[in-house]
Amino acid sequence: MHDVIIIGAGPAGLSAALWCDELGLDTLVLEQSEQTGGQLHSIYGAINNYPGLPAQNGGEFFEGFTARVDEADCDLWTGVELESIDLKAKRIRLRSGEELQSISIIIATGVRRRQLGIPGETEFVGRGIIESSSRDRDQFAGKDVCVVGGGDAAVENALILADVCPTVTLVHRGRTLRARPTLAQQIQGRHCITVFPESVVTRILGDTQVEAVEIRRKEALKPFEMAVQGVVIRIGVEPNTELVREQIELDERSYVVVTSQQETSVANVFAVGDVANPLAPTIIGAAGAGSTAAKVIATRLNTSR
Ligand SMILES: Cc1cc2nc3c(=O)[nH]c(=O)nc-3n(C[C@H](O)[C@H](O)[C@H](O)COP(=O)(O)OP(=O)(O)OC[C@H]3O[C@@H](n4cnc5c(N)ncnc54)[C@H](O)[C@@H]3O)c2cc1C
Repeated sequence: MHDVIIIGAGPAGLSAALWCDELGLDTLVLEQSEQTGGQLHSIYGAINNYPGLPAQNGGEFFEGFTARVDEADCDLWTGVELESIDLKAKRIRLRSGEELQSISIIIATGVRRRQLGIPGETEFVGRGIIESSSRDRDQFAGKDVCVVGGGDAAVENALILADVCPTVTLVHRGRTLRARPTLAQQIQGRHCITVFPESVVTRILGDTQVEAVEIRRKEALKPFEMAVQGVVIRIGVEPNTELVREQIELDERSYVVVTSQQETSVANVFAVGDVANPLAPTIIGAAGAGSTAAKVIATRLNTSR
């Protein structure tokens, strides 16, 4: 019987683990990936907004962030597949058949990129689907590319690629871009960027590599094909809440609903970081939420022991 089981070892889960250790709780962290750090491994640009820990990219930040976790006395299992969770009973079954039990659970499973769900999207991963414009910029220099999405991430990617690509086509569903005005305005001076509003990409085409996208514009009768060699998809994120969906209160977009103390609708079950739909999904916010949950759990356990 553990005091706490933390599911997910991104910034929120790792911060919660550190605090649980500091507060003397018997803690187990379960991470599905082989490595801890979550979205930090997808950050290829500089991180300048976590006070005291500036870094050139997420990998560098991760090293500083986790150095202390390695010293802490909490069990951390990576590459673990969860089969099911009974939140009320605080019982977790792993794919391996092992059953785990705790007094409290912290859900720190974060978010993942939303997918378009169109032909070609998964087939061309690593063969023209651009994972990160910052990282893969040089590889796509001189090529025509398409960016799908109208938010900050899509516009940021379009601007990065516009430095090296002859044409960048930004395809988005809305009438106007959702990106913050300071970003959206930067597009205006970039002649190689063409914006297709009220449009969707319906297929990604090619033989062994991406060769074209099929685009459908709102008023057009037929979709048309446009030759591109690279595609970036940035249409938002969705929470990793499948495992707990039927057992806990979620909001209309399936994020976990929490109190100001990070507690969910199930007693002694907490949710921290991006999975709890914070106003600012940030590393510092995730770390802060992790510490709050740990503190609440420790206070409760100490008064009941
Ligand atoms: C490109 C990019 C740039 C960013 N730049 C910044 C920035 O400059 N500054 C900033 O503050 N923030 C930035 N962020 C946001 C920041 O990375 C996130 O807010 C933060 O990582 C959230 O931490 P988290 O622990 O809540 O979730 P995540 O980082 O998503 O971690 C969740 C973890 O849970 C694991 N998991 C999921 N499901 C399960 C399961 N069923 N079982 C076990 N484990 C599971 C995942 O594998 C993952 O390791 C950026 C994000 C991206 C993608």
